[in-house]
Amino acid sequence: MADPVDTAALTAWVGEFARLVHEQRDELTALDAAIGDADHGANLDRGLTAAVSALDAEPPADPAAALKTVATTLIRTVGGASGPLYGTFFLRAAGALGGVTDPTHHGTALAAAFRAGYDGVVARGKAEPGDKTMLDALGPACDALDRALADGEPLDEALRAAARAAADGRDATVPMVARKGRASYLGERSAGHQDPGATSAALLVQAAATALTGRG
Ligand code: ADP
Ligand code: MG
Repeated sequence: MADPVDTAALTAWVGEFARLVHEQRDELTALDAAIGDADHGANLDRGLTAAVSALDAEPPADPAAALKTVATTLIRTVGGASGPLYGTFFLRAAGALGGVTDPTHHGTALAAAFRAGYDGVVARGKAEPGDKTMLDALGPACDALDRALADGEPLDEALRAAARAAADGRDATVPMVARKGRASYLGERSAGHQDPGATSAALLVQAAATALTGRG
């Protein structure tokens, strides 16, 4: 069976993320309209469409090159806070995959790539868990992935656990008061709204659980 961290698998992951964001563009924009500037869905949709086209136009040489292309395209085309942050996520994930040679450890490699991406977003955005950002979906997903693999679960099961954890983390942003990004300008009034970035980040993990499973 195909390797879940090979170039085709990662390309499928990005394609599925793009598809989900396109499908939910209006919902993402509505969430951003409530506590931001109503551009999250449209910006991310534009960036991911460009990323899918870039992968299609010039097939990447290896898994790291695929994610690097996604990163640079997002940084160039998305704008706002989330463009550079998602760009950093994919750039750091690419860096973590660069040294992977042994496909028998693909689960650990993928978990390390997710963790490296998360750490990159923390370093770049200086947000913490609980600040009502994309980190609140990405962090629980990384933890769930690590925990499931440490417990000896197969990668497919670990990815599904990560997607559930990301969705729970997204839901948990509703009562939070935003402390980073535009939503923080609202202070207490940001509470009671689901964070748009955590919502798109949950789609990123859901896409991984769809596109990277069944490849054992
Ligand atoms: P902008 O706020 O510049 O319009 P977007 O609307 O594309 O950017 O993205 C907003 C999302 O970005 C927020 O919902 C939040 O999840 C995320 N975000 C904003 N600032 C940070 C940060 N410093 N660290 C992590 N995520 C952040
Ligand atoms: Mg916005």
